[in-house]
Order: sequence, then C-alpha cells, then structure tokens
Amino acid sequence: MANPHQALYDEAKAMVFLTGAGVSTASGIPDFRSANGLYQQNQRAEYYLSHQYFATDPAGFYDYCQQNLYFPDAKPNVIHQKQAALTQQDRATVITQNIDNLYELAETKHLIDFHGNLYDLYCVKCHQKVSLVDYQTSRIHSSDGGEIRPNIVLYDEPIDSQNVQKSVAAMQQADLVVIVGTSMRVYPFAGLLDYVNPRAKVIAVNQEPLQLPIAFEMVTTDASQYFKELKINA
Ligand SMILES: [Zn+2]
Repeated sequence: MANPHQALYDEAKAMVFLTGAGVSTASGIPDFRSANGLYQQNQRAEYYLSHQYFATDPAGFYDYCQQNLYFPDAKPNVIHQKQAALTQQDRATVITQNIDNLYELAETKHLIDFHGNLYDLYCVKCHQKVSLVDYQTSRIHSSDGGEIRPNIVLYDEPIDSQNVQKSVAAMQQADLVVIVGTSMRVYPFAGLLDYVNPRAKVIAVNQEPLQLPIAFEMVTTDASQYFKELKINA
C-alpha cells in the first residue's frame, strides 16, 4: 500500500508535525492521559507533576517520576524515523508534547520539545546539568546538596517562551501541517492551531477521529502503518 498523501509530502517545503503520546505508544511508552487512563489518574498526574508538589514533597515527586515516566530502553519507531528524515532534508519541523527523548534518538534536526525533555536534568541550586545515571542514583546533587529535576514543563509552570515563539513561526510558515497521535485538547499546545497558515493543508492521523476548530482531513488509522507506507524521496 502507498501512503495516501505521498505527493503532498514529496512537494511540501515547510511541513510541521504536531505530535503527542500516540507517537510513542508504538515504542512501548504508555500514554498516561489517554482513554484507558482514568480521569482520576489524570488528576493524580496533574498533582504529582506540579511544581507545587516538587517543592513540598521532593522525595515523592522523584519516586513518581522514576516509577511512571522513565523508559530508558525505549527506541524510536517508524513514525519518529520518517519525520526525522524529513527534518534532515530541512523541509519539516517537529513540535512535540512528548518528553521521552525519542525524537532526539531518531536524530530529528528541527525539533521543538514543547513540554521539555525528561533526560535534560539539572540541579535547581547550581543549574548544572546532571546525568540520568546520577539522577537514578539520587535526587540530590552530590556536589552541593541541591535538588535535581528534569527540565520538563510541570502542570503549574509556563511553556518556555522561545519554544512558543519558534512554534508559532513554524505554524505561520507551514505549507503542510500533520497532527499525529494527539487529540489536540491540551492547551496551550492546542492553541498552535490558531496560527496555522491559511494556505496550509492540515491532516490529522489518529486512531480516534478528532474534532478540531479548523478545516482538516481526518485519517483514522494506525500512525505506524501510515508512516511505514510513506516513502522519503531525496
Ligand atoms: Zn548543584
């Protein structure tokens, strides 16, 4: 089978991929916000992944992250790989809500980690970078006793303003926008659709049909199959 949009991908010069947890489930990373995650679990996640919780119970925050968020053996899948290949041709930007580092492992050239990256760790006291191995050993920075945290956007924290600006600029310049593995219901990420170039074609690839506030083509399918069928032409 051929990808139904092959010609669009061949011709596009400024693609934007807006992606979420559905891209990484094929790599074995569970989606803690998805339909099989109960509302109550989502509420708990929002509590445990807040700066307020990190500040009041750093040991509990550390345990929650270690037990629920880190999958250091996970590998990029065909969705990451095909999108990464298009960025390497300087024809695409990936804007992801995922914090799992899989786009980095796939060598994505133009990448915006809208919600940060779990593997980018630093000490809140001295702001030095810390390795995952050191963080797995202890949540305390050995040289100064400071708390170590991942550079991810917690639920009560703002998005990095540079990431917002770069994302808006990519949306305004886009000629093809492809939404993959996200329901586009989490703000401010979902608000990026307000900035889509009116001349851009918008496609959504998702297991469940989406409702979006803009004109788009819905492809209700398995994103892995869809990207497996996409040929990357030089
Ligand atoms: Zn430190």
